Amino acid sequence: MYWNKGFNYKHAIRHLIAGAFFATGITSSILRHRLHRKAIVLMYHRVVDRNASSEDTSSNAIQVSPDTFRHHMQYLKDNFNLLPISEFIHHLVTDEPFTDLSCLVTFDDGWLDNYENAFPILKEFQIPALIFLPTDFIGSNQVFWQERLSYLLKSIARVWRHTNTQFQMADNILPSHLIENLKSAAPNHCDEAISAYIASLKSTIQHEIEQKIDYLSYVCGTSLEQEQNGPVFMSWDHVREMSEAGISFGSHGVHHYILTVEEHAAEYEITSSKTIIQQALQHSVDAFSYPNGNYNQNISKLVQKAGYSVAFNTVPGYIDTNTDRFGINRTNIQEDMTSTLPLFAARLAAIW
Ligand SMILES: [Zn+2]
Repeated sequence: MYWNKGFNYKHAIRHLIAGAFFATGITSSILRHRLHRKAIVLMYHRVVDRNASSEDTSSNAIQVSPDTFRHHMQYLKDNFNLLPISEFIHHLVTDEPFTDLSCLVTFDDGWLDNYENAFPILKEFQIPALIFLPTDFIGSNQVFWQERLSYLLKSIARVWRHTNTQFQMADNILPSHLIENLKSAAPNHCDEAISAYIASLKSTIQHEIEQKIDYLSYVCGTSLEQEQNGPVFMSWDHVREMSEAGISFGSHGVHHYILTVEEHAAEYEITSSKTIIQQALQHSVDAFSYPNGNYNQNISKLVQKAGYSVAFNTVPGYIDTNTDRFGINRTNIQEDMTSTLPLFAARLAAIW
């Protein structure tokens, strides 16, 4: 939640503009113009009610509520040509132009809430969707390092409001501006500072991140893995059930490594994840999603060599038959930017 005045003001203006554009048909004309013979690929992550969620460790940037998701799907069903991945690939391979207002719905990471909250809605509206799996997390109790670190920093901030013991121990490995922010009483300040710190670590190799997390777990005497109730990612049974109901699956690597940072492991991450999903589903896996959206020419060549037909990044944009098949843009969908239909449509129209 954001409470600082700047954001609220900006958010209120966006609501007003989006509402006016939507009501007068401007958004819909922009959409028709920009998506003439083009497709948009939407990128969802978690479909979860933030307030009902027992753990509050995932970034706001990767969440929408089930209610918001239902409104999105209803709007897409009424206004867009929703494509299964096979058809999407067909257009790119054959150069046959997309139908106006084509759309592919994707999800990254294979969160359990996709099965629990998104799957029933996708079935209800008969919307084909594509879910990218980081294979080592599926059917396990593991958690991403981002959530583990966020949990520890939030625990530290809570304790620090009463005593400064842990601050001194954590001083060794946390930057001073983060410590200052964690000491501040306003939780929203903490959230923003924690997100910024996590983002800054994304160019750090996994081994060093794990060392930091181990040390902070020692300082806190706890960890997210100890506290969470059950898995946060789907099981292979969930994956198979969804696959039988028409949901498609792609690869998101094995360990969710950022491939440009762990380049030595890239080939294994790309090829092995494909084999694992194919064995589980007895179905070919043709789509790859770069973890965190990071790739370079070398990585995209490895994806191509492994036999994928398409690979997706995290940069917003529209797709036509000239698009590089191994650098396909996606528009991220998050609650704060899309909580009403006018805001959602404005996001699809790239008004901001
Ligand atoms: Zn991911």
